Amino acid sequence: TQAHIDAVARAKQLNCYIVETPEKALAQAKASDAKLAKAEGGALEGLPLGIKDLYCTEGVQTTAGSHILEGFVPQYESTVTTNLWRDGAVMLGKLNLDEFAMGSSNETSYFGPVVSPWRRKGADGKISDAKIVPGGSSGGSSAAVAAHLCLGATATDTGGSIRQPAAFTGTVGIKPTYGRCSRWGIVAFASSLDQAGPIARTVRDAAILLRSMAGHDAKDTTSFDAPVPDYEKSVGASVKGKVIGIPKEYRLDGMSAEIAALWDQGVAWLRAAGAEIREISLPHTRHALPAYYIVAPAEASSNLARYDGIRYGLRKTGKDIADLYEKTRAEGFGKEVRRRIMIGTYVLSAGYYDAYYLRAQKIRTLIKRDFDLAYAAGVDAILTPATPSPAFAQGEKGSSDPVEMYLNDVFTVTVNMAGLPGLVVPAGMSSDGLPLGLQLIGRPFEEETLFSLGEAIE
Ligand code: GLN
Repeated sequence: TQAHIDAVARAKQLNCYIVETPEKALAQAKASDAKLAKAEGGALEGLPLGIKDLYCTEGVQTTAGSHILEGFVPQYESTVTTNLWRDGAVMLGKLNLDEFAMGSSNETSYFGPVVSPWRRKGADGKISDAKIVPGGSSGGSSAAVAAHLCLGATATDTGGSIRQPAAFTGTVGIKPTYGRCSRWGIVAFASSLDQAGPIARTVRDAAILLRSMAGHDAKDTTSFDAPVPDYEKSVGASVKGKVIGIPKEYRLDGMSAEIAALWDQGVAWLRAAGAEIREISLPHTRHALPAYYIVAPAEASSNLARYDGIRYGLRKTGKDIADLYEKTRAEGFGKEVRRRIMIGTYVLSAGYYDAYYLRAQKIRTLIKRDFDLAYAAGVDAILTPATPSPAFAQGEKGSSDPVEMYLNDVFTVTVNMAGLPGLVVPAGMSSDGLPLGLQLIGRPFEEETLFSLGEAIE
């Protein structure tokens, strides 16, 4: 724990942590030492972790990366972090993120962008100074794990925010099946899509962390009431005979040769490990991204209505209550969050509900059905690229056109729309020296298969 606290202090330029809690960490570590000395303690006893600042932590400021929550200190602890402390984990602090988890590059945080520890290599072999993004929204989590500023981190994934940052930083991230982890005490973005999960340095670490984070919780009515398997047992288990679907619709027009080659390499590795490879079709794939960017903002606009300047954080003074709301929300929310609230409010409005929101929900059902049919035909898991490109430099994408940024999520949003588990593992390097990841999509509540297959690739 002390070594991690020192490393965090030396790595301020990466801007991974919004709040550091070294005293709390050392007190927890001492208590863990005492337990371990008596050969007691939980599965995570004494392991120092970083917590995405979307998880409410009792007595420790929780901001969701937003000015509007600055100074908010929860009086309660999220269920997932409660589970981690129960098993002996130590909290190093709260990790930076895109504001309200909206973004793919960690450039929208009120607390400034997170910088990836990775650097690009030029054609001349020289390392460039350009600051590389760690992905988003869990960019503080992915950068901190990659830079050894924690052993593992919590993250959340609404449209790819665990998996895309993992791919961008050469780390492992799993978004479990919707309902596997409790959402209680995690600041809501789009409640029907949000899931908690870990980012870690290896498949085994991710399996160990997820087992601790997951489990039924009466406080979240969408949480799944079944025992959590010992995921670590699946790491290294044989994948012989597993049927791996390769969806032809993911071979996008204009896919880079590098990403196509990475995907082929993944297929070759799984075949060598004894898996059977089968081409499949998920015909509604191309509608997933536009439908996601209706459903997610719709739910966000509703969830974010609670930030009124009265109940939490920032409060501006106004001449009357409406003026107070207006001033607080105008100043408290950043540009991307305001854009999402406007899109969401529009697609839910009486005149447009049927044309946009209802249609997007129907598309969602069709996307889910595509996966159901593939699984019913015997497919055990699906292999795809994690992202359409390697990480990019700060300011390079999306500054004039937000859709350019949204396109990053093209391979990940389908999984949230269908509520399925998705694992991203590091699988190669781009020609400019940055990590590339592959994604494995599983059957509902069969995360074990993903851990076995992920280990075979990793
Ligand atoms: N990049 C996506 C978005 O901005 C996904 C974010 C997430 O998964 N939290 O909505």
